[in-house]
Amino acid sequence: MYIRVTFPLSSFKTFSYEVPANLKKQVNPGVCVKAPFGKQERIGFVLSCSEKSNYSGETKKIVGIHEQDLSFSEELWKTLEWISHYYITPLGKVLKTAVPLSFNNTYHPPKEKVAVITEAGIAVLSESKIKAPAQIRVMEALNQVYEPITISSLKVFCSSPHSVCKRLEEKGFIKITEQSRITDPFDFYTTESVKDVALSSDQDDVYQTILKSINKQKYSPFLLKGVTGSGKTEVYLKLAQEVIKSGKSVLVLVPEISLTPQVAKKFRHTFGDKVALWHSRMTKAEKGWTWQQLKQGKFSVVVGARSAIFAPVKNLGMIVVDEEQESSFKQESPAPRYNARDVSLVRGKNANATVILTSATPSLESHYNGLLNRLKVVNLSKRYGTAVYPKVSLVDMKNEFSESETSNILSRELIIDIQNCLEKKEQVILLKNRRGFSLIQQCRSCGYIALCKRCSVSLTYHRAGNQMMCHYCRDANPVAQVCGECGSEEVHFAGAGTQKVEEVVQDTFPQARILRMDIDTVRKRGAHNKILEKVAKHEVDILLGTQMIAKGLDFENVTLVGVINADSGLFFPDFRAGERTFQLIYQVAGRAGRHKKPGKAIVQTYNPDDIYIHTASQLDIQKFYNIALSHRQELQYPPFSRLSRILFSGNNRSSVQQVAFQITDDLRKTGKVKPIGPSPAPIERIQGKWRFHTIIKTDRKSPFLLHNLIYGVLGTDVFEQTIKGVRIQIDVDAISML
Ligand code: ADP
Ligand code: ZN
Ligand code: ZN
Repeated sequence: MYIRVTFPLSSFKTFSYEVPANLKKQVNPGVCVKAPFGKQERIGFVLSCSEKSNYSGETKKIVGIHEQDLSFSEELWKTLEWISHYYITPLGKVLKTAVPLSFNNTYHPPKEKVAVITEAGIAVLSESKIKAPAQIRVMEALNQVYEPITISSLKVFCSSPHSVCKRLEEKGFIKITEQSRITDPFDFYTTESVKDVALSSDQDDVYQTILKSINKQKYSPFLLKGVTGSGKTEVYLKLAQEVIKSGKSVLVLVPEISLTPQVAKKFRHTFGDKVALWHSRMTKAEKGWTWQQLKQGKFSVVVGARSAIFAPVKNLGMIVVDEEQESSFKQESPAPRYNARDVSLVRGKNANATVILTSATPSLESHYNGLLNRLKVVNLSKRYGTAVYPKVSLVDMKNEFSESETSNILSRELIIDIQNCLEKKEQVILLKNRRGFSLIQQCRSCGYIALCKRCSVSLTYHRAGNQMMCHYCRDANPVAQVCGECGSEEVHFAGAGTQKVEEVVQDTFPQARILRMDIDTVRKRGAHNKILEKVAKHEVDILLGTQMIAKGLDFENVTLVGVINADSGLFFPDFRAGERTFQLIYQVAGRAGRHKKPGKAIVQTYNPDDIYIHTASQLDIQKFYNIALSHRQELQYPPFSRLSRILFSGNNRSSVQQVAFQITDDLRKTGKVKPIGPSPAPIERIQGKWRFHTIIKTDRKSPFLLHNLIYGVLGTDVFEQTIKGVRIQIDVDAISML
């Protein structure tokens, strides 16, 4: 028997091998084999089997089976093939992204003992029949929560929880079991309770509409639009319960699991150990193990970030993509440069499943698909309960006194409102979308801005270490005493990042307890959770952070949100800059007044007339869509076209340019597309490599036009390869334009 094999390489080539007689029975398409490759052995995936070889040369024999049973369902395999074709990436590379190649069969996560109170336990507790104080404390703690609690965490209630629990188990008051411990992005077993809810009538309408489709077991894609705090999570959680009751499974994609702890927590609470988490902080071994469990059907819900879309769950019934507009669903590098949101629709179709994209601020693409009825739009237009949307006030920073540093950062209105909030013992969230201390170092005489030598971006001052950091290559440089261009000593810091804002806010409100949340403060495992817990317990008055704090957070006592500088993303060389600015302001405003207390948001800007800032501060989403769509239509940008980008990079600028021209010309000569470029990319250099790009817009209605040209005319061999020292990458439906 002969097989075609694809390897996780940057090559579209497939290879022929012979299968030794003793392995014949085990080899099928999708099986993962070990095969000689050059001088090494490599792991590859079987694409097809045949009795004859269609290869004329000598065929080598495979060495063995690496993993017998990838057991991809047909729908998943089809989806992976689609990704390979659509994102112009060899299937082997797609598979490498989709499966953790360490199918570690020997790894088993450590077990730990967990306890849960029994019915009998609840009864004796209420009758006060237990005498030993340590036992009472443990029972009371267990009675507070629904989930099993790790016994070791009960140390706070008694000095030897294991022996106390053992005695309680002997009496039948608690049950002890073992659980596998997989790194949680945060500790799920906190005593913070999750409430069971009954849907409101608005929520129930949406629920019923979607449930009808679920019951039909046909592909049906929804766009669930709901203002922040309207209960979207509660609705899809209830739907998930129904899907699972019917014996099917559910995938929930969130932009970044540690940023949306509430979603994961709610699912854990509802489905217990049927939930698998899939996130970037898991180790390879943990991923391998989880994947094996998934294959065996041990989990029926997966909550995870982008790559959870590849989870080999059995019998997929529903996919939810929460915050569908988020750019983190798009993988930039390495290939496949897939968008998990778009893939979810393809997988849903292949699996006859229901797909729900949710957001308060859907992307223009999804909004437009809603208009075209390609997504069925369902709405939750009010906040749950009595909560109303916050009042928003737009502050023109040009009218503030510009002499002092403080007044550049905090407007008079924001200062007064923070003061009021603090007096009322309410909490504040401040958004500053740049980390670091001062943004840049600039020369007053010649205007020179300190740049990274290897990347053409400005360096950011970081107080920790007193150094200038490049946010692309993480290169750290000493702070210059004189201008690197003209030698003047008139160098000063301009602009402000989160660290600078923190200092100014602390100076202004010396009594306030301030906590900063940005990449620098959450790097450590569990740090996210600690910060959020402190906010929840009101051990913090002001939470200050980057866009990390704009989403998902739901704190009862937060009544004021301040956007320090609404303009910071506005002037990015990216046609989506306005859309992103709108979404960010709209989302962060939604953190205020989510429950009984009314909220307010203050948006500080130097561009109050900018249409995106203006519509965001009016919370006028309809106007935003109308204007943004007409802008896009005028310039034929997505959603009115498809836009892909070819990126050329290398050490030698002129070879990069030359190769870029050559490839772009080849495409142009086909007469089927009008490539834009090549031109230097907005960030012309990263880590010493020069970068050029060519943008290709194609008609929205012919999704495969570019593919036909590439597969048919240009050929795929050029991609991911290095030609004359130049690397060429293609990004279909590109999001990053930098
Ligand atoms: P969204 O995801 O739309 O921002 P959430 O689902 O997080 O909204 O709901 C916002 C808040 O309102 C949460 O604290 C949630 O528990 C609460 N909530 C929503 N719907 C209900 C309901 N039907 N009953 C009780 N609480 C609800
Ligand atoms: Zn750099
Ligand atoms: Zn200078």
